[in-house]
Amino acid sequence: MIHAARASRGDGVLFELPERYLALRAEARALADSVRDRAAEADERDDIDPHMRAALAASGLAALTVPGRFGGRDERVDSLAITVVREQLAATSAHLDSLFAMQGIGSHAIGVGGADPVRERWLGPIGRVEAIAALALTEPDVGSDLRAITTRLTRDGDELVLDGHKSFITNAGDADVYTVLARDGDGYSLVLVPTDTPGLAVEKPYQIIAPHVLGDVILDGVRVPADHLVGVAGEGFRPVLDTLATFRVSVAGAAVGMAEAALREAVRHATSREQFGTSLARLGPVPTMLATCWTEIEMARALTYRAAAAAARDPRAGLTLATMAKVGATETAGRVVDRCVQVMGRFGLVRGSAIERLYREARPMRIYEGSTEVLLDSLAKQLVRRSAEV
Ligand SMILES: Cc1cc2nc3c(=O)[nH]c(=O)nc-3n(C[C@H](O)[C@H](O)[C@H](O)COP(=O)(O)OP(=O)(O)OC[C@H]3O[C@@H](n4cnc5c(N)ncnc54)[C@H](O)[C@@H]3O)c2cc1C
Repeated sequence: MIHAARASRGDGVLFELPERYLALRAEARALADSVRDRAAEADERDDIDPHMRAALAASGLAALTVPGRFGGRDERVDSLAITVVREQLAATSAHLDSLFAMQGIGSHAIGVGGADPVRERWLGPIGRVEAIAALALTEPDVGSDLRAITTRLTRDGDELVLDGHKSFITNAGDADVYTVLARDGDGYSLVLVPTDTPGLAVEKPYQIIAPHVLGDVILDGVRVPADHLVGVAGEGFRPVLDTLATFRVSVAGAAVGMAEAALREAVRHATSREQFGTSLARLGPVPTMLATCWTEIEMARALTYRAAAAAARDPRAGLTLATMAKVGATETAGRVVDRCVQVMGRFGLVRGSAIERLYREARPMRIYEGSTEVLLDSLAKQLVRRSAEV
């Protein structure tokens, strides 16, 4: 469809994407096209599809998710590049999109705060998809309120010892390495745990509406060397915040991609079907619904690219815009997929069809990486604070 935004890592001026990002978009689209036939099957899996993994590895695109020093494409991870790629991948396969994004989300903290031997050991393989990464924050009784976690870090000589239960962890069961947030005395620390560490076990208690590589990670007296601490002891939220500041906006990119794919399906259907002797695309409120979807997608994309360009320049400074883009684009995707199902009538409900898949896959995005309500609450607090400062 039509792309009217230009965003640059350097200047943030929005008219059209610079050449580099157009080239990346084409690369990502080529990868998505190459696995299109397998998308429906992969998107039903709760473990990593080996063909998707091999295709992502062969594309070289996962190198965008790690820093240049460790084999990455950019000196530091570029939020706009990640966002543009996710837009293309998510339009075809949520499974592929998650596989790509989680290599960065699961490893970013290691890149910003890991000890050198640990970074050398993991980041190269992660960028080549030879190792799979995961980030373990959530627990059975703790989601949005992460300061209430109960997973505990203690020390025994030179070793770090972890006990706890992490829940709803993407890539659990397939990950080679988990970055785990734990309570550490009065603070919180982030610890890297290779999957083959004794005491680590994975359970798969949930199947969700849009199958996802998900599981619970049980840590029972897990011991790792002291250099597996990521960042500063007691300040584990810092690298977590760095991860969110770099990757949150990319969820918005995925949402825009899904919304656009849904609209494409609805337009195809509406222009190829007649009711009451007229094209569905000209009947009753259908044209308005289609045009409203298109307009909302373009608005979401413009904010997403602007926020991603800001995050690429300075992730922390760009976090407010990234939060707006995540809320705006995921809520837009929710409205768009719902309208598109309605436009397609009963054909929008057929299990396994592209539109039905998109309808289910768009839903979790409004909950993970900061639910809409939690993010709006933090934006509202900022707004009030700013108005008090004027
Ligand atoms: C597909 C998927 C993949 C995931 N992958 C991972 C992963 O890899 N690693 C990981 O650690 N976690 C992961 N999660 C968990 C995810 O981060 C949590 O679901 C999310 O943080 C929300 O927590 P919760 O589901 O426990 O909801 P809760 O925190 O219980 O919230 C429930 C509802 O209350 C609202 N609410 C809560 N607090 C407030 C507030 N202060 N103000 C206003 N409203 C509020 C929320 O918006 C929500 O609507 C994943 C989740 C999903 C669905």
